[in-house]
Amino acid sequence: MNDDVREEWSQLVSGARKEIQRAKARGARSTRATRSTKAEPKAEPKAAAKAVTEPAASGPAPARSGADVRAQAKAARTLEELRGCVARCEACSLHKTRTQTVFQDGSPVRRLMFIGEAPGADEDRTGVPFVGRAGQLLTDIITKGMGIAREEVLIANVLKCRPPDNREPTPEEKSICTPWLDRQIELHDPKVLIPLGRHASMHILGREASMGEMRTRIHEIGGRQVVPTYHPAYLLRSPGEKKECWKDIQLAMGVLGIPIPSGGNR
Ligand code: SF4
Repeated sequence: MNDDVREEWSQLVSGARKEIQRAKARGARSTRATRSTKAEPKAEPKAAAKAVTEPAASGPAPARSGADVRAQAKAARTLEELRGCVARCEACSLHKTRTQTVFQDGSPVRRLMFIGEAPGADEDRTGVPFVGRAGQLLTDIITKGMGIAREEVLIANVLKCRPPDNREPTPEEKSICTPWLDRQIELHDPKVLIPLGRHASMHILGREASMGEMRTRIHEIGGRQVVPTYHPAYLLRSPGEKKECWKDIQLAMGVLGIPIPSGGNR
């Protein structure tokens, strides 16, 4: 490289650096402006979250009864259609207090689906299931216990809207909402279901029972293997039961062909 070329190259690089710095400064100003606009009115983050997570208003009218939910769930041919119907659903009173519906997280790579009870405050805010403290524990069970990525499994809930004050779902809410979950399971077609806690386990097994009666075994329901275990929120309150949960998880790992570490501990 002669001196002229070196000088020309140096000017080009210097100019490019300055342009990048100017672009970064513009981006930072724009980000600060967006944040300050969102922070002023209290209702705006909620509206913004809905705009991101809810699909366009195409598709059937909002489901307004259990019969509507059953009909729309049955008619949905794809998960995106189903997600759209769920996002518009007004079939039970929970639609009045939700920020947004919480449909699912993850992917069907492992053909494994975890099913929790209902969204909590963090899930209602983000639109993603299991993102609070209980969600972190579920993530640890998947990543540190099973040794796979959270993104490789599906995670959903029995109810798609948050019950106020994190109360338990009522029998009526479960009865109205669960056709969405049933169709979601059909469309994903997982090999193994791990219902978390009593509400999810009783729905998947289709009967009333205690966790003691449902846990520690593999049930076969509709051609799928079902391994009920404790809800992570319960494990946070009763950490001594984590070992019991790990026994259930190992049953599921055996069905899925995921290697279990020697000694059974991760
Ligand atoms: S909880 Fe279920 S049935 Fe009730 S409004 Fe939400 S999606 Fe619809």
